[in-house]
Amino acid sequence: MLAINWKFNKCKLTNIFYRSRWRLALAYSALMFCMFLVIIFLSYRGLIWAVSSEQARELSGVVRDIAEAEAILMQRNTYPDDLGYRERMFFYAYNNAGELQHFSKAPPRLEDDVLQIIHEGRVPLAEEAVFERQMDSDRVIMMTASYVRIDGEIVGIVYLGKDVTALYKGLTKFYYFWGIVSLLALIVAMVTGYYIAGCVMAPMQAAYERQKQFTADASHELRTPLSVVMASADLLSHDASIQSPFLQQVVADIKDEVKKMSKLVGDLMVIARNDNHAERLNVQEFDLSTSLEQVIRNMQPLAEKKHIALLGNIAEGIVYTGDEHKIKQLILILVDNAIKYTQEYGSVTVAAKYGKGRKISFSVADNGMGISSEDCKRIFGRFYRVDKARSREMGGNGLGLAIAKDIVDAHHGYIYLESKLGEGTTFSVELPQLKK
Ligand code: ATP
Ligand code: MG
Repeated sequence: MLAINWKFNKCKLTNIFYRSRWRLALAYSALMFCMFLVIIFLSYRGLIWAVSSEQARELSGVVRDIAEAEAILMQRNTYPDDLGYRERMFFYAYNNAGELQHFSKAPPRLEDDVLQIIHEGRVPLAEEAVFERQMDSDRVIMMTASYVRIDGEIVGIVYLGKDVTALYKGLTKFYYFWGIVSLLALIVAMVTGYYIAGCVMAPMQAAYERQKQFTADASHELRTPLSVVMASADLLSHDASIQSPFLQQVVADIKDEVKKMSKLVGDLMVIARNDNHAERLNVQEFDLSTSLEQVIRNMQPLAEKKHIALLGNIAEGIVYTGDEHKIKQLILILVDNAIKYTQEYGSVTVAAKYGKGRKISFSVADNGMGISSEDCKRIFGRFYRVDKARSREMGGNGLGLAIAKDIVDAHHGYIYLESKLGEGTTFSVELPQLKK
């Protein structure tokens, strides 16, 4: 059988607002954080670009000056000690034979690395390159080179460098500083997000609470008049003075409708109580096998009416700790559905056993009409009925499975179903033992 399996997590309605509030707060702070990271990254890259392009411009201007000065010095063949190079700058001028003609030394910590870079030919001509990390002293230098020309003829080459460590370190510090600021911003965004989400949720939550309370009050208030109408209809149905078959039918119809309404009101009350957590579980140890047998016995007449074989495959002595009344109600809902939605001469099987780790599991399987995969997704929703007209005809309100799910949730368990249209449906329940 191609199985459609829906597993429902424990999901309390009351948690919806709390979880939505957190979800909104997290989404808002994640968005803010991402925006902050993008801004920091872009401003860091922008600053690096601005600073290094200025440095590069300065360097290429200076290297041209030095190349021109070197050309004059080479022509004169006299070299002064000092060319007056600028702050943190150094240069090395070579002739075409590769002999060092003139230089302004790099700081001793950098010199070996600088000479290595020059000898490896890594300094680009008329362009600037940044060298970092390979410097032992964790320094950053920027270098460029220019040919020395006399009358247009290349007579040598000048390598110019500048120690830009301070600038780069400053930028890195800026990066870290904004990293810390963005973490603080994340915290602020989370707190603000949580607060704003709370403000947004408050009216919705209040409306939801009011609606819950209204359902509870309305169903409670409807019970008394309904009992009165039922009692009156009962009286009328036993009144010998009503002879007209038409009136007798009217009274019978009233009784029928009032019965349906009473069931609806009763179901609404259960749902409203579950939503309001008005009812606490009456947890106790009981023999689940006996409860299941009992439900099967009680439902036997209903099954016989449709010539349905209601069978039990229940392991003996299954002990469960939970709310016996609610568990019986759960089994009843599932067996009632199985009988209701199975054609005449069909079969319904109730099975139960111990699962893993003293969990209990039971199932109600039928070979009835089955449920489509689309409907499976929504079947536990309130007032959801696959075939509304047919279900209403059978006296269904579409609340049975919603109540069943509430009961399973309250016991921290799972309910899932496997079904195939036209072949049948199996509802399975897994429940952990509760603590008394
Ligand atoms: P209520 O239980 O409130 O009297 P209901 O039986 O219509 O009314 P649910 O028990 O919640 O409501 O079931 C919802 C719908 O799921 C039903 O209307 C029916 O269409 C479908 N359904 C439930 N159980 C089965 C089943 N065993 N086989 C086929 N369809 C089912
Ligand atoms: Mg039902």
